[in-house]
Amino acid sequence: MRDAWLTSYPGVREHEPLQPYSWYGIGGRARYFLELADDAALPELVGRLNRDQVPYLVIGAATNTLFAGDELPGLTIKLSTARISINGDAVSVSAGTLMPKLAAETARAGRTGLEFGAGVPGTLGGSVFGNAGAFGGEVKDRLLRAEVVDPQGKRQVMTLAECAFGYRDSVFKRSRDRWVITSATFATTSEPPAAVRKRLLEVQKHRRATQPIEQRSLGSTFKNPPGDSAGRLIDACGLKGLQVGGAQVSPKHANFIVNLGGASADDVLALVAEMRDRVQERFGIELEPEIRVIGRAKQA
Ligand SMILES: Cc1cc2nc3c(=O)[nH]c(=O)nc-3n(C[C@H](O)[C@H](O)[C@H](O)COP(=O)(O)OP(=O)(O)OC[C@H]3O[C@@H](n4cnc5c(N)ncnc54)[C@H](O)[C@@H]3O)c2cc1C
Repeated sequence: MRDAWLTSYPGVREHEPLQPYSWYGIGGRARYFLELADDAALPELVGRLNRDQVPYLVIGAATNTLFAGDELPGLTIKLSTARISINGDAVSVSAGTLMPKLAAETARAGRTGLEFGAGVPGTLGGSVFGNAGAFGGEVKDRLLRAEVVDPQGKRQVMTLAECAFGYRDSVFKRSRDRWVITSATFATTSEPPAAVRKRLLEVQKHRRATQPIEQRSLGSTFKNPPGDSAGRLIDACGLKGLQVGGAQVSPKHANFIVNLGGASADDVLALVAEMRDRVQERFGIELEPEIRVIGRAKQA
């Protein structure tokens, strides 16, 4: 690994604690860390990281990511690019934009289709990566194209079909984790702002009623198995309220693990294993994690 040049790369910090960037409030350190509010330098940077075989990880708001290692090798890049441009039906958004902001701004402009973003606290980049969705809408329903940087450092435009979205899934998640999503363009339709805003408020209300949003979590721990709900299965195993260290299976929503304060990655992973094992024993269903566990050889 030839990563020494990163010590003098503009803006790079060494041995940076990740906890402040973690929605969950849990994290070790990043060997090298770079926050980018502008993605102009990204193609050259990504090309060089690949040529030198330096590992890298791109994060947004880390609302779906558990930093579970002591120190992440290589470069962690936090994309904070926040740009929304509305051009008729087409809405273009940069990767670092928070989904609730996208939902609010498009509602204000009288554009409908992206209200589900009010229920997803992460960024556009993370949401394209995982085809995020909430309350009946998901990224793939409205995406026209995604702009990306490939591992050679070339900018490319990918169509909806090329993104190969599935339930909380995409080609990026399956086989292109070295590609960086820089922006996406969505198709919206025109509607009076008050009507769009009403639906957006309903999403927020439903979220407050069903999720422990006042506590730190990573959202749904597991994907829903076909025809069922992971929350229902975990609840039926009597696991609501179960606590390991500072982590707890939310009494409000059994598929959420909340950080009561001071939870470690080990606490969270112990609960993840317990939830998965108990559901497997009782129902014979193997739950698939929805959260991303970074820094452990074996995923939860
Ligand atoms: C309270 C709460 C409620 C939630 N509710 C929902 C919900 O209803 N529906 C839902 O789908 N999700 C939900 N989530 C999960 C989360 O908000 C989404 O998965 C979101 O899309 C993640 O975005 P992020 O910026 O936080 O991604 P991160 O956690 O930062 O990253 C997630 C993954 O995407 C990759 N990634 C991030 N940005 C890029 C990029 N620019 N290019 C390439 N790869 C990238 C990362 O490497 C990582 O593997 C919830 C989370 C919380 C905390």
